[in-house]
Amino acid sequence: MEIKRSRVKILTDNKERILKAGKFKEAEFNKLIDDLSNVELYQKRIIESIEEYGSIDNPRLLSELGTSEKEIDCTIEYLKEFGYLDAYGGLPRFFNTEIQNLKKYDISPNVKIIRDSNLCCGCGSCVSLCPVSAITYSRGTFEIDEEICIRCGLCYTCCPRSFFPKALDAPEDEDYKNTKFSEQFNYYRDVFTAQTTNNDITQVAQDGGIVTTLLKMAFHQNLIDGALVVTEGLKPLNPLPVFIEREEDLLKTAGTKYTNSPILKEFYKYRECKKIAVVGTPCIMKALKKLSFYPLHIPFYDNIAIKIGLLCSESFDYSEITKLLKDEFQSTPAEVRKMDINKGRFFIYNNDGTVLDIPIKKIKKYGRLGCFFCEDLTAIHTDISVGSIGSDAGWSTVFIRTKKGAEFFQKALDLNMIVKKKIEEDSKSFTSLSRIAKFKLKSYEELHRVKMKQQDPSIRITNFEEVPLGLTEEMVEIETQRCLQCGNPLCISGCPVNIKIPQFIKLLKQKKYIEALYKMKADNLLPAICGRVCPQEIQCEQVCIMNGLGEPIAIGHLERFIADWERKNKLKECPECAAPKEIKVAVIGAGPAGLTCAGELAMNGYDVTIFEAFHAGGGVLIYGIPEFRLPKEIIKSEIETLEMLNVKMEYNSIIGKTLTIEDLRDMGFKAFFIGVGAGLPIFLKVPGLSLNGVLSANEFLTRSNLMKAFRFPDYDTPVKVGKIVTVIGGGNTALDSARTALRLGAEKVVIVYRRSEAEMPARKEEYHHALEEGIKFQFLTNPVRFIGDDKDKVTQMEVIKMKLGEPDESGRRRPVRIEGSEYVINTDTIIIGIGTGANPILTKSIPELILNKWGYIETDENGQTNIEDVFAGGDIVTGSATVITAMGAGKIAAHAIDKYLQGKYLKMN
Ligand code: FAD
Repeated sequence: MEIKRSRVKILTDNKERILKAGKFKEAEFNKLIDDLSNVELYQKRIIESIEEYGSIDNPRLLSELGTSEKEIDCTIEYLKEFGYLDAYGGLPRFFNTEIQNLKKYDISPNVKIIRDSNLCCGCGSCVSLCPVSAITYSRGTFEIDEEICIRCGLCYTCCPRSFFPKALDAPEDEDYKNTKFSEQFNYYRDVFTAQTTNNDITQVAQDGGIVTTLLKMAFHQNLIDGALVVTEGLKPLNPLPVFIEREEDLLKTAGTKYTNSPILKEFYKYRECKKIAVVGTPCIMKALKKLSFYPLHIPFYDNIAIKIGLLCSESFDYSEITKLLKDEFQSTPAEVRKMDINKGRFFIYNNDGTVLDIPIKKIKKYGRLGCFFCEDLTAIHTDISVGSIGSDAGWSTVFIRTKKGAEFFQKALDLNMIVKKKIEEDSKSFTSLSRIAKFKLKSYEELHRVKMKQQDPSIRITNFEEVPLGLTEEMVEIETQRCLQCGNPLCISGCPVNIKIPQFIKLLKQKKYIEALYKMKADNLLPAICGRVCPQEIQCEQVCIMNGLGEPIAIGHLERFIADWERKNKLKECPECAAPKEIKVAVIGAGPAGLTCAGELAMNGYDVTIFEAFHAGGGVLIYGIPEFRLPKEIIKSEIETLEMLNVKMEYNSIIGKTLTIEDLRDMGFKAFFIGVGAGLPIFLKVPGLSLNGVLSANEFLTRSNLMKAFRFPDYDTPVKVGKIVTVIGGGNTALDSARTALRLGAEKVVIVYRRSEAEMPARKEEYHHALEEGIKFQFLTNPVRFIGDDKDKVTQMEVIKMKLGEPDESGRRRPVRIEGSEYVINTDTIIIGIGTGANPILTKSIPELILNKWGYIETDENGQTNIEDVFAGGDIVTGSATVITAMGAGKIAAHAIDKYLQGKYLKMN
């Protein structure tokens, strides 16, 4: 594998522009290029070495490259992070979705990645580093000027939210082996509580005034010639990053700021200073640590004399603070002198001398807007960390981390500028500090996603009962605690029907189950179904912020829980309906699209009838998806909710045959929704298709599911499977067929799929279940012909090996035949599950309806067809997709139908 986009090349090609932008002088720029060239050389050599020797040979690389082991380790991690070393596993910690998407085109770091405002911690390192000044920060957000961005990727590289190489986690001190270690605080030399002796500082600073005093001492002693800190901005309590060059200005910056501020964005301006101090939150320190390692630090890092970190448990932004003051204290920021958190209470000191205090619990809802997903409480990548947690009022807790930090602090002590008291490791202060630090770690590391119990594989392959068994209330309690209740929840937009997921989870957490159920049903009338079969891993859970931190919230499991809880408690909650509108709407097809559309219209007061070809509703849910994944009882129960909304069901009505749309118009229906799915099986074009023992997955699954062949002879439809069943395909249909065949008695079931595991469209959970059940997979293999015996019974299948070529229009890599690799496998049943097409029965009966070249109905974005009263959605529009996308389409069309009918009939009345 080769690194497609060289940052060196991009930077060199744009040299003139970069120098004009003024961040780099020519010599500095050349140094950056030299350093980057070295890094790219290491990367290239490591990749080559893996390709040559099949593994990383560290001693060889060390002698060849003449660099440190740490540098090699970091480079390896960097390569892994960007997918160059897939064989070594591991996804990026943050931005992993973006990287997967970018991989399709170009896997080098791309500026698009840092745009995610939900991940941004506001340190500003991207702004300080961008060589062309394409990134700006204003009013709390970062903007990238696409016009001038040269996509060099340096912003991503330095971002503390992008991966943080483990090799950098060790302390900077050479003699760190002598430093104390405590799991929750990482490495430190000493911890104590301290206070300034300077009255002026006490007046304005928070707690013990340690940061201001240390900076004052450093200016005095000529240890620094500047300090990057935050000060109050134009609005009270609204912090601004500033660079202080005079000791006299220090007092203006003292005090609590309660937020992250993009402090590093000021960085490049002060590269002329020889010895600066940087004060900031853990994420800022993390960014600095990365800058210290990557060859990007010149001239941004070498001039740092001391790093002072601030303890951080939660942060607030200006608008939230304003809201807090207004809602909880009926005051305005202008009246506030300073704020403080101490011993679980939040204090507000007003200019008029009054002090208000409130339990911190009460203001939780206003927090979390800053760096809420960092597990670092005590700013571990610093020389000294300072904070209020663990110390008495008027004192600060101090961690000394490096030798440099110790010497620095000692000077302030020697000059009597600071006094200190010990914190014993068995003291109350130490315990409370540890508890909070541990809680931070626990929130993100120990609280793993709940694992749903399931039937044991050896037992479940002998029955058709459901495989996963649902969550217990205790599991729900744990899982809901993990939800961060994001300010801008991406999960809602990741869900095609836009369920208000955070509110739903919050209600579950509070054990308000009825309310949670209503919240869910307001957007989704089929939660028991979606909780079981939605591919959450590519929808709501994929965009969940927690995904970037390890494991997403189990949204699907929680959805299933609430629906099962409703059934278990024999409740039947349905949302309220609008007053009847006396307008008839026909919905054709009782699949997820039709059911959702019908439900939405009924809630809106329309008189809805569903016409369904089969004798039961549910569409693919009932005839395609097997009982062990989705029990039929559940579909029945969810359809009953619709009946409670007065939706009428007309079964055994094939529209286009039994009745036409014209007939329905004559019967008084004023609008039509077509949700007839895409149920026409697609067959392979290979010789031997008509042999006995070759079946379509559709027929096989319909017989088993709808006709209950799995209960033969209790039900009179049999379905026969042989000993060795081969299923062709890699989607849900193929997997469902394979697992059904196993339960019907097959001794061996093999899935033959022409692409690789990574391209399989089946739900991940089903794939894992299939593996557990002993289904075999032959990837990159395609059938050539089916071979039969003299009684025309299939006995073998000839297959050919495939390899992956360039991506096709679906974005997946196209499988290409490896000529001469054909071989034969034994089989006595072949099930073809390679997909389905549009069923023409209905569409043929409406000749004026515009279809695309594959026979799917063409609609606008609201589901309206070229015939004004006819709407459509679901698989018959998109081709085979998912339950939830069909539901989303049904919902959108219902709103469009309402609008159409309102305009045409109701406004006139
Ligand atoms: P359908 O579900 O196909 O429903 C269409 C309905 O219209 C049917 O009931 C049909 O009988 C009826 N109909 C057809 N023609 C007429 C007519 N002329 N008159 C009256 N009625 C008519 N998706 C997931 O999200 N997760 C999964 O795990 C999953 N597994 C699947 C497993 C299998 C085996 C299959 C085949 C699909 C699976 N899918 C899955 C895909 C998903 O089921 C479909 O995308 C979804 O059901 C499409 O919904 P729909 O309402 O558009 O159509």
